[in-house]
Order: sequence, then C-alpha cells, then structure tokens
Amino acid sequence: MHTVGYLYDPIFHAHKHPNHPENSDRLESIMGLLIERGVLGDLLPLPFMAATPEQLCSVHRASYISALKQLSLQGGGMLEPSTYVNEASYDAAAMAAGAGIAAVAAVLSDKVERAFAFVRPPGHHAFADHGEGFCLFNNVAFAARCALDEFGLRRVMIVDWDVHHGNGTQDIFYEDPHVLYVSTHQMPLYPGTGRVGDIGEGAGEGMTVNIPLQPGIGDAGFASVFDEIVCPIARRYEPELILISAGYDAHWRDSLAGWRYTLGGLNVSLGGFARMAETLVALSEELCQGRVVGLLEGGYDLEVLSNGVLNTLYVLMGQTDNVSDPLGPYTGREPSVDHIVNRVKQVHRL
Ligand SMILES: [Zn+2]
Repeated sequence: MHTVGYLYDPIFHAHKHPNHPENSDRLESIMGLLIERGVLGDLLPLPFMAATPEQLCSVHRASYISALKQLSLQGGGMLEPSTYVNEASYDAAAMAAGAGIAAVAAVLSDKVERAFAFVRPPGHHAFADHGEGFCLFNNVAFAARCALDEFGLRRVMIVDWDVHHGNGTQDIFYEDPHVLYVSTHQMPLYPGTGRVGDIGEGAGEGMTVNIPLQPGIGDAGFASVFDEIVCPIARRYEPELILISAGYDAHWRDSLAGWRYTLGGLNVSLGGFARMAETLVALSEELCQGRVVGLLEGGYDLEVLSNGVLNTLYVLMGQTDNVSDPLGPYTGREPSVDHIVNRVKQVHRL
C-alpha cells in the first residue's frame, strides 16, 4: 500500500451560505463517508497552516487579497452574483491555499508518496486579481507555485477534470513555461472559456491544453481523451509532479452543469472518475516517481462527491479493488468525441 496524506481543517466548514450549492454540507458528506468506511485511519493527516501573506502574494494581487480580507472582516457579502464571502471565508480560503502548499511540500520532501487536500472554498476559477465561480484563492496554483519556487521544479502538470473550465488557473499560468495546464470541461457552460485554440502565450505557448466537450460526453469519451491526449502529452512533457484539480461535477447525476443550460451536463460515472485517477497515478509512476497531489474542486451531488473522493483515495492508496460505483454508469447514448480529440491533437501536434 502507498502512503497517502490528507489535508483537512474544520475551518473549511465555516465558509457557508444558507442557500448555495457550494456549501459546507459538501465536505461534511465527504468526511462522513470516509469516517464510516474507516479510510482515514489508512491515511496520514498532514499538518498545515494558512498561507502566509508572502505566499498569498505569489499567486494573487495584494489589492485583491486585502479587499477580500476586508470584506470578510466586515461580515461578508457577494464578490459577484455566484460567489459569497462570510466572516470566516478569508481564513478558510487562506487555509485552503496553505493546504495546497503543504500537500506538495509533503510529497516533494518524501513524507508521503501522494496526497489529497479536502479543501473549500474551491479554487480553479480564482484569478490573480479576483475570485469568481464560488472560488476565492486558487488552491492548485499555490500547490504549483510551491513546487516551482520552494522545491525548484521546472515542469509541473495540472490536470483539471472538473466539468467547468479552470479559467483562473489557465490565466495565472498562461505565459508560464513551467506549468502545463490540461483541462477537460463542458462547452457551452460557465465560464465559457477554454477553447481548443487557447494554448498559452509567449513562453507559455503550447502549455495550455483545452479539451472542451459537448454535453452528453461520458466515460467512453473521457477514456479516449485520456488515452489520446492526456497520456501522450504527459509523456512528451515529462512532468516532475502531477496535480489534479479534482471536481466531481462531470458526473451524470450532478445537476449543476444543467443549472443554466438545459442541454445538461457530462455523463461520467464514479467508475469513470476512478479510471481517470488510475491513469494519472500510472502516469506519475512512469514519469515522476509517483508524485501526484489531488485538490478538491467542484461536485454538488453529495453522494457522487463523497463516493468520488473515496474512490480517488482508494486509487491513490493502490487499493483499486475497493473502488465501487453504487450509482452505476450512465445508460443513455454518448456522442462521439473523435472530432474534438482530433482537433486538439492537431493544434498540439500530437
Ligand atoms: Zn465545477
């Protein structure tokens, strides 16, 4: 069995809102299932602290950090129509950023082989100068910055399988040659970015790999995307660390993707998420001594979310026999993914 660390703090529950899909019940359901299944005892709890002001400034503008702190100190409010802040949100977000940093530090200093951070608020829609889409600080960006700045890595790969495009993560590293950002996301859907032709700029040209998927794509499509794009591009890049922006809202039962678009959602199953995790773990074994760190992003159906995280942890631990899918696969028809796979391969010369 592999040593897997986890990062969790009760402060993450204090960022909450009476009527919002990104709420404290998400993490409560995850921790509840992990306790029920007795999984936490097989994992190593990793200590961590809130990101320091200096660390926060490595990803975000000082003006945004202080404005967010001020808003939280005043009792909170809305950053934009979908993103709330309460009195605990600044502290929770700074801890979530700190968790990303500590997760990477633990893996790169060989304290654990792999790690997963159960963080809220999520991060991949947070830009250097503003938060949006339920996100305040960009947790996976802190994880990448830690690897680059504190451990001297030169090639970090982020795989973002959340149903939404990680527009904040893309923007933060758009001109950075040291971070390969690969995102699968539904299109059309919020935030509307992540076109195939957006590949990075300047020294970062080619380092952003967007794979926009039409509604209805499920396990078969994701298997093709991972086999034909994610794996070959990882082997070409040879990352020294793989980070996963792990959202579970591409599941067929997650309704948030259909929230504003009645065409509604991707159709990944719990087994499909587990296979994606297996593929990334295998890639990390092949390319970077098994160094892989997952960070929680979205996922709004509580049964999907908790079982999705549980399965990911089983995969990280090497206990793939324990992976289960109580909800089963999507039973409808799945559109072909060939067209988009071919376009991405062409644009990135795969
Ligand atoms: Zn999402």
